[in-house]
Amino acid sequence: MVQVNQSYLSLQKNYLFTEIAQKVRAYKAANPELRVISLGIGDVTKPLVPAVIEALHAAVEDMGAAAGFHGYGPEQGYAFLREAVVDEYARLGVKLDADEVFIGDGAKSDIGNFQELFDEKAVIAVTDPVYPVYVDSNAMSGRAGLPCEQGRFDRLVYLPCVRENGFVPDFPAKAPDVLYLCSPNNPTGTTLDRAALTAWVDYARKNGMLILYDAAYEAYITEKDIPHSIFEIEGAREVAVEFRSYSKIAGFTGLRCSATIVPQDLRISDGKGGDTDLNSLWRRRQCTKYNGCPYIVQKAAQAVHTEAGRAQVMDQVRGYLANATAIRSALSAQGFEVYGGVNAPYIWLRTPEGTTSWGFFDLLLNKAQLVCTPGAGFGASGEGYVRLTAFGTPEDTAEAISRLRSL
Ligand SMILES: *Cc1c(COP(=O)(O)O)cnc(C)c1O
Repeated sequence: MVQVNQSYLSLQKNYLFTEIAQKVRAYKAANPELRVISLGIGDVTKPLVPAVIEALHAAVEDMGAAAGFHGYGPEQGYAFLREAVVDEYARLGVKLDADEVFIGDGAKSDIGNFQELFDEKAVIAVTDPVYPVYVDSNAMSGRAGLPCEQGRFDRLVYLPCVRENGFVPDFPAKAPDVLYLCSPNNPTGTTLDRAALTAWVDYARKNGMLILYDAAYEAYITEKDIPHSIFEIEGAREVAVEFRSYSKIAGFTGLRCSATIVPQDLRISDGKGGDTDLNSLWRRRQCTKYNGCPYIVQKAAQAVHTEAGRAQVMDQVRGYLANATAIRSALSAQGFEVYGGVNAPYIWLRTPEGTTSWGFFDLLLNKAQLVCTPGAGFGASGEGYVRLTAFGTPEDTAEAISRLRSL
């Protein structure tokens, strides 16, 4: 009998959303006359925009004609989409080469897979609370060590992001090899401003640390001083990889497309006293294990970068942001301490003194028939907070707000 990869046995069971679903189911069964509204949805709800639908239809027609048929595509993505991504970055004043852009089937897979390029002994740091993919993908590869207290792993470095530090991680005593940063952040909805991000890029350059930068929510940034890309920061090309996704900007959660930027200047240690470049290693990895995002989907993604497409998707983003503003204001008016919701579709609410994440979850469900996500489910430093999302319909959001007001 083959023996299992031991690292898989050390993974925490993902109880969070199962436990939430169980509690909600039990509540609904006991109170069939009450309507429960979820402010826990981590998925978009608006349909694909017309520009994307048109591009999909046209691409389907291409595939049905001998002249337009596309078989295996380039593993790193079609040039038409990589060039559209380059143009998008140029709008931010960031100059990229199309060979630095890798099209994938979603940021989750790109982020989850990228750690394969690092040595098993590499020291990995994450912020806490955290998007679980950063932790679990390293744990699967045996890089996280063993589970220890508070649901943590003993070989990972956890950098708390809490109200006391303005949700900006403090520099660790000893520099790790790799740090995952996510701004705007899921779950806290908070951001790293230009000064904070510059400080981290400088730290990375000084200490030879690599930053894996998750920019899945950049489209939600409304404030001026928040970078949309880590490459807006001088020197970031030497120390950072950036992950972008079409999921939250354009509703591609079911369609699947992403762009990962691996600069050519980026070098890591070869373990023999020299160094090696990451761009060609990631290309090698993708060519071996991936056959490319579907042509039809890449055509749909290209439409997001057109003038009409951009206007249509940003309209949707503004709709979600309007929900976020409304939820945030209602909670503030009730005297709650709230973070996020300005540059992100997430609101991070500080639970009242003496109430745990799960205690507040129960209270919202029982008193207002609202579902939130307990912050403790995202890491030890999430205790004392809950996450509310702005991905609901405007009608449900309005109803949720009126319930919050009468809480
Ligand atoms: C939604 C999300 C992504 C994007 O995931 P896809 O696989 O592209 O759908 C990446 N990072 C974070 C933190 C997210 O919340």
